[in-house]
Parts: sequence; C-alpha cells; structure tokens
Amino acid sequence: MAYDYDLFVIGAGSGGVRAGRLAAMTGAKVAVAEEHRVGGTCVIRGCVPKKFMVYASEFAHHFKSAEGYGWSGLEGASFDWKTFISAKDIEIARLSGIYVTNLQKAGADLVHARAVLKDAHTVELLGKDQTVTADKILVATGGRPVRPTIPGAEHGITSEEAFHLESLPKSILIVGGGYIAVEFAGIFNGLGSEVTLLYRGPNILRGFDEDVRVHVAAELEKRGVKIVLATEHDRIEKTDEGLVSHFSNGISVCTEQVMFATGREPYVKGLGLESAGVELNERGAIKVDEYSKTSADNIWAVGDVTDRINLTPVAIREGAAFAATVFQDNPTTYDHEHVATAVFSQPPIGTVGLTEAEARHKYDKVDIYRAIFRPMKYSFFGGEERCLMKLIVEEAGQKVVGVHMVGPDAPEIIQMAAIAVKMGITKQQWDQTTAVHPTAAEEFVTMREKYVPPELGAI
Ligand SMILES: Cc1cc2nc3c(=O)[nH]c(=O)nc-3n(C[C@H](O)[C@H](O)[C@H](O)COP(=O)(O)OP(=O)(O)OC[C@H]3O[C@@H](n4cnc5c(N)ncnc54)[C@H](O)[C@@H]3O)c2cc1C
Repeated sequence: MAYDYDLFVIGAGSGGVRAGRLAAMTGAKVAVAEEHRVGGTCVIRGCVPKKFMVYASEFAHHFKSAEGYGWSGLEGASFDWKTFISAKDIEIARLSGIYVTNLQKAGADLVHARAVLKDAHTVELLGKDQTVTADKILVATGGRPVRPTIPGAEHGITSEEAFHLESLPKSILIVGGGYIAVEFAGIFNGLGSEVTLLYRGPNILRGFDEDVRVHVAAELEKRGVKIVLATEHDRIEKTDEGLVSHFSNGISVCTEQVMFATGREPYVKGLGLESAGVELNERGAIKVDEYSKTSADNIWAVGDVTDRINLTPVAIREGAAFAATVFQDNPTTYDHEHVATAVFSQPPIGTVGLTEAEARHKYDKVDIYRAIFRPMKYSFFGGEERCLMKLIVEEAGQKVVGVHMVGPDAPEIIQMAAIAVKMGITKQQWDQTTAVHPTAAEEFVTMREKYVPPELGAI
C-alpha cells in the first residue's frame, strides 16, 4: 500500500526534530506534527529559558561579591522583570525559528496541528479536518507537569507558566524537591522574591548523592531560601492578602504565587495509542525495546514519553539512534549508562555515574575522595559559599564510577569528567592528569586522601 509519508513524527521537540531531520536527509518523505511551538519543552519552556532565568538571577550574587573586590555603587541596582521576559521571548522565538528552518532544509513537512493516532498507519490532524497515512510513525510527545489534586491547586502555577508571569512575585512557595523545584528556588531567590521550598521527603534532590543533597540544601539556605522538609501541602486558600498554603505540620504560609514542581508524566493522553496497538508500561510511559520500538511493529517512541532518562541530549540521541536504525540501515542502540547531568541550582551541580549509596550497593568496597572548600573567588573577603567535590572509586578495579560536584562551573566541569568516566578511567590514570592552576577543577585531580564517612569510621 502507498502511504502519504515514509515517516510521520508526532512532536517537534528535542527527540522528534532530530529524528525527523535525519530521516528526511536520507531522502525519506517525512512529516513532523507540532501542536504548540517547534522546539518542544527544552527550547520553549524548559532548559533554554530556564538557563536565561538562572543567568538573570545570578547577578545579585555577582554584585554582592563585587563589593568584596572594591566595587561600589551597585547597591541601588534593580531588576526589571518585563524587560528580561521580552528579551528572553525574542531569543526563544529565534531559536524556535532555527528548528523550523532546519526541518524545512532537510525536506521534512511541518504540520502545525495536534496529531492523534487512528490506527497503526493513520494519523488524524485535529482542527485541520485531515488524516494522513504513514509507513512508520515516531511518537515524541514529551512530558507534562503533574499538578497535585489538593483543594485550591487551581491557584498554583507550574514551570510552564513560570516563564510568562506578568510580574516578579514578591514571595513564592515552590512545592517539590526535584531539580526543577531547586532551580526555580534559586532563580526567584536571586531575583529578589522571598522563597519557601516545601518538600514532603526527608531532603531535596532525591536520587542524587547524599553529600550533594545535604550540601545544596545548606547552600540554598545560606542564600536565603527557606526549606521546609517532611511536610505535606494540604490546601491553598485564596485570600485578599495572597495565597495561603496550609501545611501538614499545622503551619500556614501566605505567598503571592505557588509553584508546583511536583513531577512530570509522559504526555500520552488522548493520543490514540490503544487504537494503534502501542502499550504503556507500569509508569504510564510508552514501552519500548532497546531500538526504541514500541509494541506496534511500525511505531517507535523516543524522549520523555518513554520515561527512560528525561533529558534533552538523551532524547536527541534516542532520536538519532532511531533514524540510524530505521532509515540509514545501521542498527543503533543508545547506551543510557554514565549520562552526565547538571542542575542549575545556585550553586550548580554536575554529576556523572553512581552515587555513593549506589556504588556501595553494587561493589564490595568503594573508595571515596571528597573535598569541601571555599571557592577562590570568595577566599579573601569571607564569602560563605563552599564547593563540594567527590569521587567514587570501586576498590577492586580502581575504576572511577562516580563524580559529583557542587560549585561554580560544575556543569561545565562535569561534561569533561563524563568523557573519562565513560571511557572507564581508573583513579591512577585520573591522578596522572596534571592540574590546571588556579582553578577549582584542579581539586579533582589532586585528591589523594581517602575519605571515610563518619558512620563508617569504626570499620
Ligand atoms: C523546566 C524544565 C527544565 C529543564 N531543564 C533541562 C536541562 O537543563 N537539561 C536537560 O537536558 N533537560 C532539561 N529538561 C528536560 C527536557 O526539556 C526534556 O527532557 C526534553 O525536552 C525531552 O524532549 P522530547 O523530544 O522527549 O519532548 P519535548 O521536548 O517535550 O517535545 C514534545 C513536543 O511534542 C508536542 N506534542 C505533544 N503531543 C503532540 C501531539 N499529539 N501532536 C502534535 N504535537 C504534540 C509538544 O507540544 C512538544 O513540543 C527540562 C524540562 C523542564 C520542564
């Protein structure tokens, strides 16, 4: 049977655009459907605008440290939210335009519509009164923020709206303990909002190394973020003074805004997956094999909708592996091990490999190397900030299996460390690397003393 397209991609985000572009470049007839804006979460309402907000919010800290270096006259400096938001929006529109151009240059058709599966080869384009057929389909619809169902939840915002607020809130309660919550706590705090971070677990950043979690929480508090842990958010009441949030510990907090950063879920609702024979796993994500193929023979899925590792570079690599396998006659799987990641908290985190707890679980014995120090920039005028660096080495083979850092430039530094970890570097090889001086990163290659956590001291 002749189909309208060789490949129909649903979703023009990180994964869909990369896969669609590479497939179209092989000469395949490709269409990419997007219901919102081309670029997806990362470009429109994720990584990119968030990083601009982080940059904007860091100036307050820079100004403060500038005083220590003899600068004055910065006391009255003020921030204009509207100026920033419009500059940010112009840049986001430019980037989205580049994605559109790249798709078009590759020869793919871009369809501005919500696409819904009718069967394994037929896609309905909502609002266009049109259906198209395709030999192969790629689902790359990403994820969505999860909103809690507590009374008054409709008064709160998520990260989606945080990028478009009319004004900078004087005060904000951020609910959640994951990386998005922590990043926005730093952003709003830096810009001058009074920030309370509420999380129901024992500490923020579940899944990160324990030392990193403790360190970041302490640094956030030093910068003025109020952190409330092990407490539930029961309800929100809208009053003339603001939004009153009632906590399970009996305390109430009144803030101008409440932001939910309470997790994300695969965006599969109303997509017609059942009519195409595409199964979900127990987490509600599309079930795929190592080639990103779903339970339907001609349908693949990549990115956040598969809930493997929900990061842009991972979605891109999964999309590229799909295109290589299906359109370049080159079966390719993407290796999800040792994916480095950054949290743009203030100070930021860079991490790759296992946490100490994971390493202790996996290996008989592990060696830990750890350093906590004042970054050079703050050394002579008493800045409070501390930098954390940690190496985890499995004892038997001396392989470096985890690298963690909290401090200035950690995201940049971890990218390079990730190459070494991915290559299976040993501690000895790591130590043979000569330091770059004076940097913070040099601390990583000069850590010689093993660190024994106090709780293991007696062993
Ligand atoms: C606030 C925030 C900050 C983040 N920061 C980072 C970061 O710093 N680093 C990082 O690596 N990752 C970050 N991420 C994660 C990153 O954005 C995602 O992992 C990445 O965008 C996933 O790409 P994707 O292709 O799977 O989906 P998406 O980029 O979400 O793209 C999916 C696209 O599909 C469209 N779509 C959905 N359904 C349909 C349909 N039926 N028809 C047509 N179109 C449809 C959507 O509108 C969307 O444009 C962040 C995410 C958030 C929310």
